[in-house]
Formats: sequence, structure tokens, C-alpha cells
Amino acid sequence: VALGIVAGAAAERSFPVCGIVGVCSAEGNAAPVAFAGLVGLQHRGHESWGLATETGGRVAAWRELGLARWPAGAGAHAAPVAIGHTRYSTTGDSHLCNAQPLVGTAGGREIAIAHNGNITNAVELASELRASGYAFRSSSDSELILALLLAAGADLPDAVARAIERLCGAYSVVALVDGSLVAFRDPHGIRPLAVASKAGTTVVSSETCALDTLGYQRQREVEPGELVVARPGERPRSYGLRTGGRRHLCVFEYVYVARRDSRLDGERVESVRERLGGRLAYEAPAGAEAVVPVPASGLPAARGFARVGDLPLVDALVRNEYVGRTFIEPDPTLRSLGLQMKFNVADGVAGRSLAVVDDSLVRGSTMRRIVRKLRAAGAREVHVRIAAPPFRSPCFYGVDIADPGELVAAATSPADLGREIGATSLAFLSLDGLESVLGAGRGLCDACFTGRYPTPIERIADKGRLEAAPPAEARRELARFRRRALPPQVARS
Ligand code: SF4
Repeated sequence: VALGIVAGAAAERSFPVCGIVGVCSAEGNAAPVAFAGLVGLQHRGHESWGLATETGGRVAAWRELGLARWPAGAGAHAAPVAIGHTRYSTTGDSHLCNAQPLVGTAGGREIAIAHNGNITNAVELASELRASGYAFRSSSDSELILALLLAAGADLPDAVARAIERLCGAYSVVALVDGSLVAFRDPHGIRPLAVASKAGTTVVSSETCALDTLGYQRQREVEPGELVVARPGERPRSYGLRTGGRRHLCVFEYVYVARRDSRLDGERVESVRERLGGRLAYEAPAGAEAVVPVPASGLPAARGFARVGDLPLVDALVRNEYVGRTFIEPDPTLRSLGLQMKFNVADGVAGRSLAVVDDSLVRGSTMRRIVRKLRAAGAREVHVRIAAPPFRSPCFYGVDIADPGELVAAATSPADLGREIGATSLAFLSLDGLESVLGAGRGLCDACFTGRYPTPIERIADKGRLEAAPPAEARRELARFRRRALPPQVARS
């Protein structure tokens, strides 16, 4: 069983994507800066992490399963360029061979890459590359990007332009090529990527929260189809390789994935979530006496709901942040206990009619338990309000939401679903409501709500689609990892 699936069962809505960071440092300290950036992106994935540096044409890389920790032996490592990756597997299981950055060699050149997204023509492209003699060392679709860059010539913009011609789907990429930090984003801009420079140092990150914490305020998005090349001591260069097309930034980055202090397209995520909650209160007022946020990611939406509904916010759910990773064992009793232990109910609910607000609903198992616990604590009515439309379709662009059969809202009406989870009522934000908050025609992917995918896709959602036969050692390594006691999950909101 893939680790992500088991962890997801325990955490129910633990579906981050991946985080990438790249640094080109004027001071030769790219590795610690990239590592610090990686910690700022830990919420995007905690199955594995990695760091790679390049000095004098040689790549050094460190990769591990679990949460990021400063690698032993990297302390004295001075390097002008570095990239990092934190992973949640969407293609390729949680083996160390799939941890990134991936490193490859061709004609004496070493290249390292880190990728966030999913390649949607991966099976076709992999078979072409195998036929041309490329030997894959991982089952990750990210290796396709590495293989294409290795096969291209030394002219960087040309090499990336050729790769973009062949790749379909979502890809934000950082790479180390010939002493440069390279960053590019797919022509739809499905996954976010931001860049900032200061005093001769350039930092690229999946989210602006990492740039903020590193002290880089003058930020901008890497545009869809844009290539940025940074060399030590020089101003970064930008190449518009496939710009001007229709943008499709993932709407779910706004709803759940991105950290609330990040900005997407210049807009603070927390403020968007508050407005989504406010719109929900306008569309589906619950007639309740108080609003209960589902911590931590439901808090901004609950705040917006309470403000528009002129209701008090009651911090009634206490979340145990240590449950997620403690209960990953595939034992049904442990998994069930994991769900049960995730939330406790504080005082302030007895005899009251409550609106419980969360940002999204996937399998419904956590919400079912929350409703049960609130009722057991004496709540008179429990109205569930979700600040996003119902999930109806799987994601093929790098968010491991759930198997289509597990999307509870796909085939059940809100009224039936509400009854099923024991709520007095249940309502979702409408698609119109989502659009009115985010702006019609803004250029967003909303395929998991609408089924309208912005690119052609191979309808093979299996994470192991590129996995010929997982090596026995990789399986043993995963089993070892799962037996280890791990640090707590990073708190999110
Ligand atoms: S399908 Fe959904 S989760 Fe996937 S990229 Fe589109 S909006 Fe985001």
C-alpha cells in the first residue's frame, strides 16, 4: 500500500501536493537557504524530501523519507546553487528512489531537477523514451522531465522549450544545469511558482510564504510558460517560451493546499478563504446560533461565515496535531482510532444550534465523527457548511484527492449526504459562488468540481502507472520507514 494512501486514511484530508525551492546565492550559501525554504513548504508534502547542490559541474544530493531535517555532512558544504523538494506522491510510490531532486548524467553533464505537478502524457512519453534507450531509475513522472533535459543540447532556453513541447499536464520545475539555477512553469500555470531576488541572490519557491520567511519581499510569479535562469552574481534572465495562453491555476490551491499566508496571483490566500466563507453564509445561511471552525484549515472560511452571518465564532474543536503520522499503520482499529482521536470537543456547545464550517469535504469520515462528537457534547443542531463545491472528479495534476469511488459528494445529494453523516443540514458553496469570489474568467482549473480538464489526460490515476516492478529493497525500505516513530505533522491553516 502506498504510504500516502494510508496516511490519507488516517488524516482523511491530508492531500498536499509537492513543494519545490531553488536558490542561486551570491554568497555561496545556497544549501542552507534552500533547506530553510523547504521547511517553509513542508505543508505541501511530508513523505520524503531532498536537497541538491551543484559546484564546479558536480551535483551533490541528499534525500530521505519523512520530514525535512538538515542532512549530516552538509554543514561545511559551500555551493552557489541549490534546489530542494518536499514530496507527496502522486505518480510513483513512496520509495526513496522516487524522492527528489532527481539527478541524471549525460555526456559528462550532471543535471538535478525537482518537480511539482503531474505529467498527463507520462505513459506515452515513458514508452517513447524507453524505446530510444533511456533507462528509468525511478517510477516518478518527474524523471521524464530530467530525461528530456538530458537529451537536449547545451542551449538552455532551447532545451527547456523542447521539453515543454513534449510535456503535457502540470509542471513547475526547478533544476541545476551547468552552474545555473533554472526554473520553469507549464504553459497553463497549473501549479504555482514564485521568484524573488535581493542583493544578487535569487530564490524560487512553490509558495510566497517561504520567500516571506526568508526575507524576500520583492516577489513575482514565474509566468506560465516562462523560463527563469539565474547565475551567481548576475541578474536572473527571463525567457517567455510559451506565454500568452489561457492560464489555469489550480483553484484548490486557494481552497486548501496553499498556506494561508501565501499569495497566489498577488492575492492573500487567507483573504480568499474568508470571502469564500462569507459567500457561503450568504448562499446557505444555517439559522444557527454560533459558528464552529474545523481547525486548522477551516478557520478563515468560518471567520468569513461568522462575519457575514453576524454570528459568534466558538472555538469548540480541539485538534490533536500528532495523530496523522502516528496512525499510519494499515490496521483498521488503529486507523479508526486515529480518526476518533483527531478532534476533541471543548465547552460551549451544549444546547446550541451550530454551523460547522470547513474548507472542503472529500470522504466525509472526519466530518461524520465531528458531528457525532458535537451531538454527544449536547449540541442541539449541527449544520455542516463547506466553503467549496462538491468534489466530483479526480485530479490528474498533482493533488492526490481520493479515488473517484471515495468522493462522497460525487453521487450523493447534499441532503442525503447530510443525513448520512448525521448533520441537521449540509450545504456546499455553489460553483457560481466560487467564481464570484475568485473572479469569472480569471483562468483557473476547477476540474475536480466540474470535470472540465484544461489539458488532454491519460485517464490512469494510478500512482504506480510508471512502476514496472517496485524493487524489493524499495518495499523493505518503505516498511522500515513506516515502523519508525516520526515527528508530528506540521500544523496547517
Ligand atoms: S483538478 Fe482540482 S485539484 Fe487538480 S489542478 Fe484542477 S482544481 Fe486543482
